[in-house]
Amino acid sequence: MTDFFDDRFFLSPVSLFLSHAQLHTIYAHADRTYPDECCGLLLGNLTAGNKIVTDLWAMENAWDAAAADDLADDPHLNKTRRYWIAPQEMLAAIRAARARHLEIVGVYHSHPDHPAIPSEYDRQLAWAQYSYLIVSVPEGIASDARSWVLDDRHQFQPEPLLLTAPARM
Ligand SMILES: [Zn+2]
Repeated sequence: MTDFFDDRFFLSPVSLFLSHAQLHTIYAHADRTYPDECCGLLLGNLTAGNKIVTDLWAMENAWDAAAADDLADDPHLNKTRRYWIAPQEMLAAIRAARARHLEIVGVYHSHPDHPAIPSEYDRQLAWAQYSYLIVSVPEGIASDARSWVLDDRHQFQPEPLLLTAPARM
């Protein structure tokens, strides 16, 4: 519990709370899909403005030439540089989350051989209020995670990412 109640908790208006075990799960997903980007959803609850992640849903990276065409993006880029969650999959996830009284609080994806900093593509496609957790995967081994949120000018700002102890079994 100590991680919850340090100074950062009181200083940060909004933070993303993730357990060590959840981060490990995301790292494992990112390692597995390397050199492609992985993606998934962060589900949980908003408590006093903080985002408490309770569930992770791995999603398929559906990036392909058709998605690139829809988004008027570079058709030469592949899944090593892009991810895409198919809209029908996103809608199904939103419905499933609602049925379980969970909210989608964010999206995670990996950056193979690139830093955990959002790209211009990430920024353009981002939704307000979601946290965007990006994992850097240099040479196939996930090693850094950072969270980002849009400000009111649609620019990414870093969001405090607080790691909590693993949930009790
Ligand atoms: Zn990205």
